Amino acid sequence: MADNPMLKFVGKGQAYPEKRAADDRADDFLEISRSFILDKAEEQASRCSQCGVPYCSTHCPLHNHIPDWLRLTAEGRLREAYELSNLTSTMPEICGRICPQDRLCEGNCVIEFSGHGAVTIGSVEKYITDTAWKEGWVEPLVAGKPTGQSIGVIGAGPAGLTTAEYLRAAGHEVHVYDRHDRAGGLLTYGIPGFKLEKDIVMRRVQRLKDGGIVFHENFEVGRDATLEALRDKHDVILIATGVYKPRDIRAPGVGAPGVVKALDYLTASNKAGFGDAVPEHEDGTLLATGKNVVVIGGGDTAMDCVRTAIRQGAKSVKCLYRRDRDNMPGSQREVANAEEEGVEFVWLTAPIAFEGTDHVTGVKVTKMRLGAPDASGRRAPEPDPGSEHTLEADLVIKALGYDPEELPKLFGADDLSVTRWGTLRVDHKTMMTSVDGVFAAGDIVRGASLVVWAIRDGRDVTEHMHRYLKAKAKVAGERVAA
Ligand code: SF4
Repeated sequence: MADNPMLKFVGKGQAYPEKRAADDRADDFLEISRSFILDKAEEQASRCSQCGVPYCSTHCPLHNHIPDWLRLTAEGRLREAYELSNLTSTMPEICGRICPQDRLCEGNCVIEFSGHGAVTIGSVEKYITDTAWKEGWVEPLVAGKPTGQSIGVIGAGPAGLTTAEYLRAAGHEVHVYDRHDRAGGLLTYGIPGFKLEKDIVMRRVQRLKDGGIVFHENFEVGRDATLEALRDKHDVILIATGVYKPRDIRAPGVGAPGVVKALDYLTASNKAGFGDAVPEHEDGTLLATGKNVVVIGGGDTAMDCVRTAIRQGAKSVKCLYRRDRDNMPGSQREVANAEEEGVEFVWLTAPIAFEGTDHVTGVKVTKMRLGAPDASGRRAPEPDPGSEHTLEADLVIKALGYDPEELPKLFGADDLSVTRWGTLRVDHKTMMTSVDGVFAAGDIVRGASLVVWAIRDGRDVTEHMHRYLKAKAKVAGERVAA
């Protein structure tokens, strides 16, 4: 009987691609892990036990065919592995880099529970798609037979780009509108290069441009055109703007110079990485160099900020979080990376005031203790009386998450219905908003979430939009015939 290439998890240990040393990576914005080499990718893929019910796949928002492409990788059939992974995802090399696999596929891998360590799925996914790009297996986007119908996509983040790609492939004319000067949304300006190098994102965007998708950059709906004007221009609209309104802290002194928003800070850093002139770096307002930096928050954005500050040469970097390590929303893998790079985590601590007259000089904080679980199931923090003290700070970065902007007001569209959380209200059977022919997907519907969920929503909404367009074309055809 031929040797089974799989089920090698007993004899082959778990291995992730080697990380660069913390000292080395703190000097640049390049990704911190080297790629697998071929032998290692094959070896790690061969650890999969090919479960009959693959929990890795069921816990992947895209339901990627993970065991199948792991087997193909282990058998050295890399091109087929890539083709299979590409079937369910528009950007597998990006998911391989930035998905929190420890909470999704790898966190639910059965061999993790048997004590052998999960299959390193994300690193294999990254390897096979990077190889596909290198080998020229990634095919150009080819538009289907022209339908004569036109789509407007508002927002060039992962949900918008996914829908744009699928609808262009179906033969529609596709226009993407985005407020930034480069497409990609948070992939481009939110996530730092050490997690996702920017040429990886730009390569995807360029493929879509080469496939005939028209991008309107620096275009703000509400300023450059109303939603109504875009509806007149296109047969159907998708709103996939994401959520960009930063949550704020109510505390004395929060408006002091030197207390800044996470997204402004990360955008400035990413723009500098592209080689753009960044006035806020020239005047120092969004630069951590030589400063005592305090980042407030415990999510992935906070992790991105602390690690960016290290790379900018901060004097010290502290991360304040009101709960403890076990109750934080950010990835444990990112916390470990940040600690290796010299970030100090100050758990169970919350800001109560910002000190300084002309500029922030410190954050007055209180220690917290965890009480009973709240509505989210996590133990609610409450102040520990008498524990107040001050942490020195020249730059404070608020990374407390994002809420939706007021889209009806921003777009001049009062008939666009929103939920009490400000997200767009959609009919979940059709993903259409309260306005006929206007669909919505991604964070603007579900609230701030993962990139992989935005891709999934972009994939799902494509089906609904396609069905709507076909029905519209049929009605138009019947009118002409009559
Ligand atoms: Fe393989 Fe783990 Fe998925 Fe099972 S859960 S199929 S072992 S990757």
